[in-house]
Amino acid sequence: MMSSSIPWTKIFFQSACPCGSGEIAYKCCWRGGGRWEKTPVGTIAVSKTSTKNAGCYLSPLGNCGTKITREHFISRNILERMTQSKLKFENAGHFFGGKQSVEISIDAFSAKVLCDNHNSALSALDTSAGLALTTIDALGMDIERVATGEPFRSFYISSGIDLERWMIKVYCGLVAAGKIRGQSGDVVGLESLSRNLLDSLIGTASLPQPLGLYMHTFVGQQRRSRGLSFGTIKLTDGSDGVGGLILSLGPINVVLVTSPLYGEAFSDPNWYRHQPLAWNVRQYGSRIAYLFTY
Ligand SMILES: [Zn+2]
Ligand SMILES: [Zn+2]
Repeated sequence: MMSSSIPWTKIFFQSACPCGSGEIAYKCCWRGGGRWEKTPVGTIAVSKTSTKNAGCYLSPLGNCGTKITREHFISRNILERMTQSKLKFENAGHFFGGKQSVEISIDAFSAKVLCDNHNSALSALDTSAGLALTTIDALGMDIERVATGEPFRSFYISSGIDLERWMIKVYCGLVAAGKIRGQSGDVVGLESLSRNLLDSLIGTASLPQPLGLYMHTFVGQQRRSRGLSFGTIKLTDGSDGVGGLILSLGPINVVLVTSPLYGEAFSDPNWYRHQPLAWNVRQYGSRIAYLFTY
């Protein structure tokens, strides 16, 4: 959907598009009158086959290829730019053997969990999420710049729907690879990947509440402005189950709720489902905004 009008962003309509595509804005995400939309990837076209490859977590949907391929959850060049050489996972001992916090190499952030057919079909989501991660990183740099220099205007946009679906892909991949555990140490199994998650990853359905992407913002608080780390959220029902996946991207935290048992999202005022303006600050004469469209 097109955003509502953000009048001061009109100055960007002839610039390189704030989505990071490299196109000029009026040929890309500009919709006129200060309104914007990043066109989402949409339903993924998977070529038809009669194979269900047992090694592919999308095999319940059919149309698998015969080979299982290694999949990098986030493309290497983006990880290398955002993280040095290690990736951080923290929170509640849910990852990788029940430690409170663990660092893994970029190469270990991949797994053989998808067939070739599904892996290549989903690559459009990786491309879109790559743009989002890159522009959020640029937002972090601009936030650091505010206090130091001349007033400036900074505006970025990405598709919240694509980021949501890519987070589903990362979560499914981590589960399929046996990397997520409950606090008891039990590995979260493939049976926890509901049909809702798989269908919305492919784009044939949207997620029923409370599942989906939430923004967890701390406007006005001191935040880390750059970097990337993953965490899990615990269920709030007293069990040790996993409620979802957090991705901290410098100034923006996104949370994908993956369990229908998760209730926190409705009572905490800092949680916003499908929030369009994830960052919107006016400081020292500068303006900075980050827009997700859905
Ligand atoms: Zn664009
Ligand atoms: Zn498959």
